[in-house]
Amino acid sequence: MINLTLTEALQKLNSGEISAVELTRAYLDRIEKYSADLNCYITTTPERALADAAASDARRAGGDTLPLDGAPIAMKDLFATRGIRTTAASRMLENFVPEYESTVSQKLIDAGTVLLGKANLDEFAMGTFSKTSFFGAPINPWQMENKLTAGGSSGGSTSAVASGLAIAATGTDTGGSIRFPAAITGMVGMKPTYGLCSRWGCVAFASSLDTPGPIARTVDDTALLLSAMAGHDAKDSTSCHSDYKCNAPLEPILGDGKKLRVGVIKEFMDVKISDDMKTLFEKRISDLKSIGAEIVEVSIPNILDALAAYYIIAPAEASSNLARYDGMRYGLRVEGSDIYDTFKKSRAAGFGDEVKRRMIIGTAVLSSESYDVYFMQAARVRRMIADSFNSAFEQCDLIVCPSSAGTAMPLDAGLSPLEFYALDLFTVAMNLAGVPACSVPCGLAQNGLPLGMQVVGPRFADMRVLQLAKHIETAAAVNNRPTTIMGK
Ligand code: GLN
Repeated sequence: MINLTLTEALQKLNSGEISAVELTRAYLDRIEKYSADLNCYITTTPERALADAAASDARRAGGDTLPLDGAPIAMKDLFATRGIRTTAASRMLENFVPEYESTVSQKLIDAGTVLLGKANLDEFAMGTFSKTSFFGAPINPWQMENKLTAGGSSGGSTSAVASGLAIAATGTDTGGSIRFPAAITGMVGMKPTYGLCSRWGCVAFASSLDTPGPIARTVDDTALLLSAMAGHDAKDSTSCHSDYKCNAPLEPILGDGKKLRVGVIKEFMDVKISDDMKTLFEKRISDLKSIGAEIVEVSIPNILDALAAYYIIAPAEASSNLARYDGMRYGLRVEGSDIYDTFKKSRAAGFGDEVKRRMIIGTAVLSSESYDVYFMQAARVRRMIADSFNSAFEQCDLIVCPSSAGTAMPLDAGLSPLEFYALDLFTVAMNLAGVPACSVPCGLAQNGLPLGMQVVGPRFADMRVLQLAKHIETAAAVNNRPTTIMGK
């Protein structure tokens, strides 16, 4: 049962071949067996899962089946879940139990999903290997003995789905946190158009960039999950009045004489990537050509500055968003001699090093001496990148590019903060521009580890992004069940 995709599982549930309780139990058994080794969940919710599953079976029996009825999923522990601890992987929120439900998790409840637990992540989603988690890093199920990263910040989500500990999961992507971990675990990860999925109730990192989205094993599964997550929300001031609905397998947009212009980004061609990534990317491009895509070179002149702009804008917004954790209203409180001392002690004890680094950088770039030279410059670069994407999409329908330079690295690779930041090179520009981007497996490297490539589209072309990703998925035909944990 664990090997069924979400789409297949829903078919079997609907035909009565399996029940939601059976499917949920199968996942719970595996969670019990493997989740300590993989560390992909911060909190598991087996009782809630079985209750959700029983309710789902009852609905199906009564004939009012919901779109994702009985699908056992993992929720990134950044989404507030009513009555269930929501930590953001921080000591600051170690014991925080929200009294409200985030819009995205509520929508997934309304769609009939079963909650297996809260997935591990980087502290406040700041990181790339999920190593900044107060709860320790999740493990990549590919080559478990090598203790590789499952990526970050949604690394618990990708570890869980890749290892059969959830059928699909939610993630959030501020600078690559869905796409990078998906790419290096052989999963599909979609960062939708900014504003398509509500941020309400999702612990804020950098509000103008934060984008909730789905992670799953196939593109069709990803599309299904996105349909349930997307939609306008009056509680999020940047939520869009646009909807995304797709409750059937995605239709082909290539083949049978269909025409599509697919752009490749000129500036990315000079960036050093692994030989495997290069070979696989070129292979997939020629596959697309063979089914009718016209490949065009496009230019996003400032795209290599995206990283610098992102690492000014994201910390600036984070320093403002994280000011609320002061030990007063909720979260960790360490008593001091007076109120300021309590602030200081609570924040010193509650936040990890990377979060502190971001707050210090953010506060510095927003200070009156630095604001114009750093923050405003970064905002200008961001505008130029967004404009360049718009012009590029006049010359092509969709863009493709690598998701990362290479395969998953060992957790103890010993990277410096700057080396970590540099790993986001291929992903941050799409957040700055607010455009949709999906990472889809494009093949296995010589070392047996998966690699991913991105499909990027104009704002609100989320469906077409997924449609092209599906063509790539078909061409690459990656078996994304790592044998170390999935058996043969
Ligand atoms: N790696 C990036 C960072 O640390 C992206 C994080 C994210 O998308 N949440 O900021």
